[in-house]
Amino acid sequence: MIIRKVTESQLDLAADAARVVLTTKPKGRGFQVKVERRHLGPWQRLGFQRRADGERRRCNGVCWHGFREFMRQVYALAPDAVFVTAMIRYDGSEDFEAKHGETYHVQVGSQQADPAYYGELCECSEGWAS
Ligand SMILES: [Zn+2]
Repeated sequence: MIIRKVTESQLDLAADAARVVLTTKPKGRGFQVKVERRHLGPWQRLGFQRRADGERRRCNGVCWHGFREFMRQVYALAPDAVFVTAMIRYDGSEDFEAKHGETYHVQVGSQQADPAYYGELCECSEGWAS
């Protein structure tokens, strides 16, 4: 995803607070940012692939809750930050709080054979609680 109106040190602080790993590259007026799980960190995301027993395999990605936490930490430091993701764009913290719930129910995976909601591809403690 692309993040603008933020500094690299703000991104690093937000990543630390959200306990995720960032790969950051300058791009245009902002940064191209990849968010991944820390080793043994929180926010376990599940992939599209299923094991022989039918359960979805784990993957290195960060789940919906982890992205939400990272974005909230960025907005705590940079309220005007702009996120451009494959699914949605947020212009500032108010826009984020108003819209981010929609992404939970975005259909991902195989539309016909094995559809999934983005927010449900998750095995983190917040996912279990909900
Ligand atoms: Zn989760």
